[in-house]
Amino acid sequence: MWKAPLLPKDLEGEAGRAIVRRIEALSAIGCDLLRFAVPDIKTAETLGALASRVSTPLCADIHFDYRIALRCLDFPIAKLRINPGNIGGKSRTEAVLAKAAAKKVPIRIGVNAGSLPLALRKKLEEGKTGRAEALVEAALEEIAVFDKFGFTDFVVSMKASGIADTIKANRLFRKQNAAPLHIGVTEAGPLVAGSVRSAAALLPLLTEGIGDTLRVSLSDTMENEVIAAREILFAAAEAGCTRARGGARIISCPRCGRNGFDTHAFTERWMRRLYALEKPLSIAVMGCAVNGPGEAKHADLGITGAGNKVLIFRHGKVLRTINADDADKAFEEELLKL
Ligand code: SF4
Repeated sequence: MWKAPLLPKDLEGEAGRAIVRRIEALSAIGCDLLRFAVPDIKTAETLGALASRVSTPLCADIHFDYRIALRCLDFPIAKLRINPGNIGGKSRTEAVLAKAAAKKVPIRIGVNAGSLPLALRKKLEEGKTGRAEALVEAALEEIAVFDKFGFTDFVVSMKASGIADTIKANRLFRKQNAAPLHIGVTEAGPLVAGSVRSAAALLPLLTEGIGDTLRVSLSDTMENEVIAAREILFAAAEAGCTRARGGARIISCPRCGRNGFDTHAFTERWMRRLYALEKPLSIAVMGCAVNGPGEAKHADLGITGAGNKVLIFRHGKVLRTINADDADKAFEEELLKL
């Protein structure tokens, strides 16, 4: 999700070119859809202008005012996220669904534990239902509205900040409805905590075949949200639950007193470029020759410290021995050969 307001001046001159470059870079590391909060008509028009400048599909996230959704649909927006419960009533929802259907734009029904409909919130407060059950009930109510209008091109999300609620809601929903599910833990937390919490909630669901799209929501950069999400997908594929997607898998050692190479700095320098590779390669960044090439024998390309030298290896076989100062250049040369 884009993390700042989108203002018309953001698209002017160098600022506009910088936004396009950033979106393209997000795509390169695995962002398949980028969502923007659209609180007013001006933002809808700005997002519309941006959508025609980038190839990444853009999603408009709209609350409260159906006219914003209608305006977004005048532009090449790839998806809307709305909550029919707060878009202003039956006729307004119908207007949005009719235009979205005509434009072949899918919609996400986004139900959130923090903004449940009033009646369900009351039921929850009175202990007459659980949070997961309330999320499912809200989603099914929204789907009933879509069904009534014959609108079928939608995906559903039921987000909570709790791991158990997230798992339970999605499992319960799947038992009752076959609609595609967008899964995620909302307000998951800062980088490490949020990534761990998201993985803890999403991996069991992916293992059961639940989840068609996902987002990791972090109090951190968009780039790290994308990286965390793709690592969750890699983990699911490694566990045999989902199809592996392309791109590099980075194996890097945690470093210890034996290290002869700054694996942390090297990984930081190279990470985004490696994540942008399309080939399914495994890349090892190891600290020392004691465990380096041996533990990362399967790597398509590896780099490791060895005393005051650096080794570059492929499938456990040393290709080059170089000085640390030449490490990046030599690594790049070998990477380009793959
Ligand atoms: S690869 Fe070497 S430096 Fe890295 S953690 Fe293992 S023993 Fe330590």
